[in-house]
Amino acid sequence: MDLQSTIERIYSELKPFALQGKVASYIPALAKVSPNKLAICVHTNDGDVYRVGDVCEPFSIQSISKVFGFTMAYKMLGGEIWKRLGKEPSGNSFNSLVQLEYEQGIPRNPFINAGAIVVSDILLSLYPNPQQELLEFVRRIADEPSIKYNLEVAKSEKDTGYRNAALAYFMKSFGNIQNPVEDVLDFYFLQCSLEMSALCLSKSFQYLANHGVIPSTNEQILTMSQAKRINALMITSGLYNESGDFAYRVGLPAKSGVGGGIVGIFPKKLSLCVWSPPLNEFGNSLAGIEAFERFTTYTGDSVF
Ligand code: GLN
Repeated sequence: MDLQSTIERIYSELKPFALQGKVASYIPALAKVSPNKLAICVHTNDGDVYRVGDVCEPFSIQSISKVFGFTMAYKMLGGEIWKRLGKEPSGNSFNSLVQLEYEQGIPRNPFINAGAIVVSDILLSLYPNPQQELLEFVRRIADEPSIKYNLEVAKSEKDTGYRNAALAYFMKSFGNIQNPVEDVLDFYFLQCSLEMSALCLSKSFQYLANHGVIPSTNEQILTMSQAKRINALMITSGLYNESGDFAYRVGLPAKSGVGGGIVGIFPKKLSLCVWSPPLNEFGNSLAGIEAFERFTTYTGDSVF
């Protein structure tokens, strides 16, 4: 199987799909991104890298950052974390409020906004300077010291993030937010504003494709069991209320963000990132999903 020609073939087939989507505009600073950007990057556990398109251009990773925040919190707390969070798919949009009242302020999973806001609260309690710790963690796993937060994007989201504020205050009323809501939201928006290229994102997910260990350095980020469980959460909840359709069409654990990125892994083999900013109605990259579907179809590789 020649992975380079496979991703080049997929790249050439994608343009019509991107044109049907819409770049996220509910965070005003994101609306400036060109809808024509397109990148596909693969890292194999053996150390090979395959790439095509705008793979070196940093973009807003948004909800993909939920995997990094959760990894840091889960590593510290282990199974204790499930007192504050669920591990079921929500079946609702990523910023939905409806389940939270029925479920006493416990978010369905760590990959919807409410869940990631609880994780931000946990990290604020666990680390003296979680903003810096998270940045250093991401720089290390991506092997890229220049990765930054985009303060303009974070501010733009803070200025308009009424729904996330509602989620945080609502959970506070149930006692599931321990720090001041303002601090939790500031950290959550900052985390979402991380900018990374498709090349860095694909590299940064390698520990999830390799039993919790970064293949190039042998650094253990998580135990084998913890990595397995994060992959299970990604397959059930990584694309919000489109996770079932994504599992059906693609069959890989993956996480999306409204910046148009999707990163996924094939266990013990590779990690894959696709970036195309135009989104579908679920807030997932339209061409990104197509690319993932074609990748598992053309290579014959999926977890199923
Ligand atoms: N920062 C975005 C928000 O909270 C992240 C959502 C996403 O990428 N789906 O709305």
